Parts: sequence; C-alpha cells; structure tokens
Amino acid sequence: MKNIKDYSMEQLKEELKELGEKPFRAEQIFKWLYEETVQSFDEMTNLSLELREKLKKNYSICNFNILKKQESKDGTIKYLLDVLDGNAIETVLMRYHHGNSICVSSQIGCKMGCKFCASTGINFIRNLTCGEIVEQIIRVEQDVGQRVSNVVFMGIGEPLDNYDNVVGAIRLINHPKGLNIGARHISISTSGLVPKIYQLADENIQCTLSISLHATNNEKRSSMMPVNKTYPIEELLQACKDYIAKTNRRISFEYALAKDNNDNLEDAKQLVKRLKGMLCHVNLIPINKIENGQFDKSSNENIMRFRDYLNEHGIVATIRRELGSDIDAACGQLRRKNL
Ligand code: SAH
Repeated sequence: MKNIKDYSMEQLKEELKELGEKPFRAEQIFKWLYEETVQSFDEMTNLSLELREKLKKNYSICNFNILKKQESKDGTIKYLLDVLDGNAIETVLMRYHHGNSICVSSQIGCKMGCKFCASTGINFIRNLTCGEIVEQIIRVEQDVGQRVSNVVFMGIGEPLDNYDNVVGAIRLINHPKGLNIGARHISISTSGLVPKIYQLADENIQCTLSISLHATNNEKRSSMMPVNKTYPIEELLQACKDYIAKTNRRISFEYALAKDNNDNLEDAKQLVKRLKGMLCHVNLIPINKIENGQFDKSSNENIMRFRDYLNEHGIVATIRRELGSDIDAACGQLRRKNL
C-alpha cells in the first residue's frame, strides 16, 4: 500500500478528488500527519468515518519504530529506526543553544564509496521515499517532545543520488501545512554529483548547498572520493559557481582534515586558490576515524592553523563541532543495519 506521507499537498488533493472527496480534506489530513503527528487514520476525527475507511483501504501511514536510542554526553541523540522492511537506518538529533538540528538519512546504504566514511562500503539497499525521509523528523520530534528547527541531509546516503525523493521531502518539510521549517534552515550535502547540482539550481528552493570537497587536486580527491573520477574538481567548482550565479546563495564547502593527508599549509594555500572570489564558506571537519579506516584525525594545532590560514586569506572558515562522537553519531560514523 502507498504511504500517505509520500504525497505532496497537490498530489494528495488529486488523490482525494479521485476518491470522490473534496480537495480541502488534504489540508485536514496534512494537519493530522504533520502537526498532530497521529499514527492512524482513526485518530483523524474531523474526517467522516466513511472517508477514514476509504483512506485505510488505499493508504498506509508509515510509523517507524525506534529500535535503539543512544545519548551522548554532549546531549546528541542517535536513533536506530526500523524502516519496516527489514532494514534500519540512523538519524541524529543535535541540540544547540539556538534550537534542535536533525541529521537525516536519504538512502539505505550509499553507492559513493568515500574511503573515510562508514556509511558506504556496506551494500546499497535502496532509496528512502519522501515520506520515509520526513518520518525521521516526525519520529524524533515526537520522541523528545520538541520541535526541530534545522534539517541537514548529512546522514546515510548521497541526497542528490535520490534526487526526486529528497526534493519532495524538502517541499514537505518546508510546506506551511507540512513541517513548516523554513528552507533556509535546510541543508543538503553532496559528494559532488555535478548534473544534479545544476538541476537543484533550477528548483527555486532556498536551502543551503554543502559540497564535500575534502581535497584540492584531482589525484588526492579521487583517492578519497571515487566520485571525483566522474566529476573532477574543475567541473564541480564550475557547477558551484554557476549555482551561486543562478541562486545568489552562498555555498558551504566541507573539508574533513586527515593527518598528513590534506591538512598542511600547502593544501590550505591550494584551497584558497580554488575558492578565491566565490560566495562561500568553508566548514572544516576534524575527520573521524572509522573502523579499518586509513585516515587519522589531524591535530588540533593543525586544524586551527588551517582555519587561520583560510581566514587570513579571505576565505571564511569555521571548525565544525564534533557532536556525538562518543556514540558514533558524528560525521561519517552512521551506518545502515540489517534487522
Ligand atoms: N553523501 C553526502 C552526505 C554525507 S554528509 C556527502 O558526501 O556530502 C556528511 C559529511 O561528513 C560529508 O561532508 C562527508 O564527506 C563527511 N564525512 C564522511 N565521513 C567522515 C569522517 N569519517 N569524518 C568526518 N567527516 C566525514
């Protein structure tokens, strides 16, 4: 059966018309799903019994089960969610002074094969649907009894490799009758699927685009991220420039610092050369070592020296706080599970 959370407002209105119902019912259903976060059609008490029966016959409501919940000493919570098909994914809630941020997964597994990331390597299973992406947020909000104010697509998977569902999910997250989270509070991170960056530029969504860059030349980047062999740095950065020109939005570049690999001042110098003049920001991530991983974290001293070099040379750079690393909830540490 089709998951009712997979429909946009417009699609649901069409569905209801086909069921012989008034389109405004879609708005009532959205309110139940995304404001009241009910888990069954029976709870939608302002709908007639007849309509509730029709809905039950035609749609399911996907409600993920929380299989495991781990809390870090910094307050970060990692959830293992049962996606109801024998697989499980991880979702992370981060608590900041300015509100709650959630890091959602977009796929069960990942095809990209980045050498430093735990989400890959294990087989790719499938894309998550829009409803399943949104469900991660609903489940977590319900569990903690608080609203989430920021959403980052930085969990398991490559969001732009599941383009339609991720864009559909963003529209649901953003919709005033959906989760009503402003697009400016939504970030998508990509390993660099160039054609999809161009496609995203045309969507007219005001979300933030983050690019996982991690290296400044093709040899090094390809050794860390196989995707670079298909879309080399020059093409990626050209797509970023075109994205900025089209959307007028600042891009965030992620750069994970690995000891003796990409963390010396020569790398910083090359990075400045590559990014000079672009409307951008660099987010430095102390790399998290993964099981059997070949990369070690840079020293704090190197990380700060790298940041200072960028800032002194006209590139705004900050160091990402390492939240949840004690429970394997930090960048690159999430993985899918079999049940
Ligand atoms: N597939 C997307 C989404 C993952 S986002 C992407 O590649 O952008 C998670 C961010 O954490 C990305 O920038 C990713 O490159 C980075 N990351 C992955 N493994 C990491 C690790 N071990 N340490 C630090 N950052 C890592």
